[in-house]
Amino acid sequence: MIHRKSRDEIKRMRHAGHIVALVHKKMKEVIEPGISTLELDSIATKIIKENRAIPTFLGYNGFPGSICASINEEVVHGIPSKDRIVKEGDIISIDVGATYGGMVGDGAWTYPVGNVTDEIKRLLKTTEESLFAGIAQMRDGNVLDDISSAIEAVANREKLGIVRQYGGHGVGHNMHEDPFLFNYKVGDHTLIKHGYVIAIEPMLNLGGDAVEVADDEWTVSTVDKKPSAHFEHTVLATEDEPLIITQILQ
Ligand code: MG
Repeated sequence: MIHRKSRDEIKRMRHAGHIVALVHKKMKEVIEPGISTLELDSIATKIIKENRAIPTFLGYNGFPGSICASINEEVVHGIPSKDRIVKEGDIISIDVGATYGGMVGDGAWTYPVGNVTDEIKRLLKTTEESLFAGIAQMRDGNVLDDISSAIEAVANREKLGIVRQYGGHGVGHNMHEDPFLFNYKVGDHTLIKHGYVIAIEPMLNLGGDAVEVADDEWTVSTVDKKPSAHFEHTVLATEDEPLIITQILQ
């Protein structure tokens, strides 16, 4: 069942989303060659706790970090480690959730480390574009397939692989709620209603679609080892324009 959020729930979610956005603002500032994913995790934890929120990911199904930090060919769910240090030319995807007043905000962004190749710039730009194409379809009266199709069209135009096994999801009292949202058209005509909140999160690859899970049982990587990008916002359908929940409140 898809839960429509009340005015009060939305208020708390926007505060959770604000904290997620604060973490991303800081990530953008501190990601540079030489920093470890564990240092990034510590910085994120500190910001979340200073804002009287809970790191949603920590302990979720036993996950050991507040962020997922996935480098280059890693798609999602990378475990923070002192031994994982980014270098010039890498990309790193940071996914983070914050729970405030019992409500969750969830957002991801892929950051370049120093200078990256033109191909990688195209991957990042296109994946971000596909996210916003999806967000534009998060409207009362549309169907889930409208979001999926919009994401797929942008990926196809640039001949990028679309990760099939993972996708967007409803979010609210829990990080993962109904519905599941595919990043490609599947014929899902579930109606979107105002009050629905969905984390829209395309994961696109410079190579093929295929991904695999590492022996650590978390880290998902592309099979062909080509780089992958991940951009995610938590988005509310309103009676008017879609509202991005994971943004800094003014
Ligand atoms: Mg998510």
